[in-house]
Parts: sequence; C-alpha cells; structure tokens
Amino acid sequence: MDYKLLLEEAGALLKGHFLLTSGLHSDKYIEKMRILENPRLLKPFIDRMREIGPDADWIVGPTLGGSIIAFELARVMGKKCAYAERMGEARKLKRGFDIKNEDTILIVDDVLTTGGSIKQTIKAIQKGRILGGIVMIDRSNKDPEIDIPIHSVLKYPIRNYTPEDCPLCRKKIPLTRRGG
Ligand SMILES: [Zn+2]
Repeated sequence: MDYKLLLEEAGALLKGHFLLTSGLHSDKYIEKMRILENPRLLKPFIDRMREIGPDADWIVGPTLGGSIIAFELARVMGKKCAYAERMGEARKLKRGFDIKNEDTILIVDDVLTTGGSIKQTIKAIQKGRILGGIVMIDRSNKDPEIDIPIHSVLKYPIRNYTPEDCPLCRKKIPLTRRGG
C-alpha cells in the first residue's frame, strides 16, 4: 500500500505556504481530516497499525483525531478505547474509563509533529502500563523525544521555517493559516 499516494489522492497533502499554530512556516501541510472524514480511506491505516502496533488492552488517543483512530483500532482489535481530552495546556481522561493497574495501553494519534499531544496523553494516563505509541503519519523532522517507542504507518518529514528564514516569504508567496 502506497500511503503517500493515498494521502495525495484524498487531497490531504497540501502544497503552498502555511502558517502553523506554532508560528513556524512550511511549504507542505497534511490535512488529516481528508482521511479522518472517510472511514474507507482510514481503514488501510488502521489495518497497518494493527500489524505493527503491540497488542494492548486499551487504545488511548488524544482528541480529536487520535480518539477517532483509537475507536477504529479498538474496534478491529476487539479492545477498549479511551480519549485524552484537552484541559488547558494539559490533557485528561475525563469519562470514568476503568483502566486497571495491570492493563496494557497503546497510544495512537493522527499526525506526529512535535509530539506535544502524545506527551500530554502519556501524562494523562494514571494507571496501566503504556507499551508504546503509533501514529498515522510522522511528519516530524527532528526527534520529538517521547519517553515511549513510537511507530508510524508513514514517515513524511516536513521542514518548518521560522518567518525570518522562510524561503517562501522571500518569494512573497501568500501565507495560509493552518492548524498543526
Ligand atoms: Zn514563510
């Protein structure tokens, strides 16, 4: 399966000049909702995650995208899922998920950029043993320094530029604001 081609055909790989929420600029942007809006396109990613991810009692993902993936992966694996929701700068498992100390946990997310949401999800998990993490797309271009092993279905590093160093700014290409 050519996952990059799948993203391209879904219109999820955008090219241009993007302002990210971090304040950095990039020439590519992954619009993950073009996959997450379509269960048929998400399925091959979920199938691959099932192949490469460790078997765990709970699949835990940060809202919004990570929780959709957690649900789908838990569904095909016959496991349970939990969602790490935003609480200010942190995340919390708010809904009374009954994770026991002896349970094993796999963390999932959509796009890995700086690793912030995965780190917040690790902190939100109070009980159980985290085996590792798996993401749909790893777009990081430097080590996000996460304490657990992270696997990815597709590695697609995207360079970020500070506004001062941005070659697209120099070419006066109009800037588009995007999340991520
Ligand atoms: Zn720029």
